[in-house]
Parts: sequence; C-alpha cells; structure tokens
Amino acid sequence: MTIAENVAVVKNNIAAAAARAGRDPGEILLVAASKTNGAERVREAIAAGVDACGENRVQEMLEKAALGAYEGAPLHFIGHLQKNKVKHVVGLCSLIHGVDSIELLRQIDREAAKKGLVQDLLLEINIAAEASKSGFAPEELPAALADAGELKNLRVRGLMAIPPICGPSGEENRQYFVRMKQLFVDNCEKKYDNVRMDFMSMGMSGDYETAIECGANMVRVGTAIFGARVYPENH
Ligand SMILES: *Cc1c(COP(=O)(O)O)cnc(C)c1O
Repeated sequence: MTIAENVAVVKNNIAAAAARAGRDPGEILLVAASKTNGAERVREAIAAGVDACGENRVQEMLEKAALGAYEGAPLHFIGHLQKNKVKHVVGLCSLIHGVDSIELLRQIDREAAKKGLVQDLLLEINIAAEASKSGFAPEELPAALADAGELKNLRVRGLMAIPPICGPSGEENRQYFVRMKQLFVDNCEKKYDNVRMDFMSMGMSGDYETAIECGANMVRVGTAIFGARVYPENH
C-alpha cells in the first residue's frame, strides 16, 4: 500500500466512525504523525490530503523543515517538549499538543512574547494516571487553565491525551476517551480570553476510530499512514 492509499483508508475509517457517532467527518482533523519518516514521505502524506503533520523530535523536525518537508500543511509538535527546546518550536509550529506543566506554559509564553506572537497549544492530560506518562491530572486542569489565563502570549485551544497502548480493536481505551470528553465538556465554559476549548487531540493508529466515537476531533496517526516505523540504529 502506498502512503496515498493508506491516507484514503484512514480518511474512510474516520468518516465511518464519525457517522456512527452522528458527527460531521469534516470536523475531524487528521494529523500525520511523521516521526522517522523522511521529507519525501512527509510530502506524499501532505499531497494525499492529511490536515497537518505532527513531529516528536525537535532536531528531526528542524532538519526536515529545512528540506521543505511540511510545505502545504500546518506543522504541529506532538512530542514531549523539553524546556531547552521551546525556542525552536514556538512560532514554527502552529500547535503544540503536549504541554504538561505550568513551567512549560510560562516558558512558551516568554518565548512567544520575545517573538511577538501568540502560540496555540493543547494541555496534555494524564488520563490513565500512568506513572510513565506526563501531563496534568484531571483534577489539576482548572488550576492549569487559570494559570494559562494569565499568560497573554499563548492560547489554550483544547486538550490532548495519550492513553495506554491497547489491543487492535482500540476498545480498552474507550473508558479513557469517555473520561476525556467529560473533562473537556466540564472545562469548556469560557472564563479566560486566551482559553478556547476547540480541540480534543486523542486517538492513534490503534484506537482513532474509538476516539472519534467518543468525541475526538483531532487524531494523530502514524503507523496506519506510513507503515511500521524504522528507527535508525543506536537510537
Ligand atoms: C508516534 C505518535 C503517534 C502515532 O502513533 P501510531 O500508533 O504510529 O499511529 C501519535 N501521537 C504521538 C504523541 C506519537 O508520538
């Protein structure tokens, strides 16, 4: 299967999942999680009609950006952002998905102020309370939104979650997606000028259809578009 064929299959599956949930498929954005895939393959995915590209590693993203890999599509950062890499990501990426601490929010705000822009981002929620994962606990969200509300050079656009790796049906993660949807709804009320809860980024190759049934409007799909990832040696 080519990348274009894979994108067509994923888009069909997105439409079917949206139909099952009585939702408009047009409101669901497909983010191609393009880590480890070279510029040429990223361009193929963009030509096939993905809505955005999402990268995990800053160095890899900068190298591919220099090759023009992302021309024609918005670029998102979907990885764990280290504080010392914030300066490379702010302004280059139209959306930063995994903002997981107040310190990181402040750092992004400072960098955006320095560059004279407003950075869009999503707050990451550790929805399955996994020790190995970062993100705010659901009960920390109201305070995080209040803190973000004070920072004028960023705009919170929604929530993001990475639930556990699950079986091929994606069903095991339904409980977490349902919890995310509830959290999203509970915190949607507009209290701050710079908080606009538009996006719920959840669902990967194994569970994006389940995530859409539960309300996701942004899915991050890698393997189902590009095939199994080949990591460089010594990585
Ligand atoms: C790699 C990655 C994905 C895509 O994973 P697949 O299972 O290959 O679809 C989605 N989100 C994040 C944060 C990732 O790092």
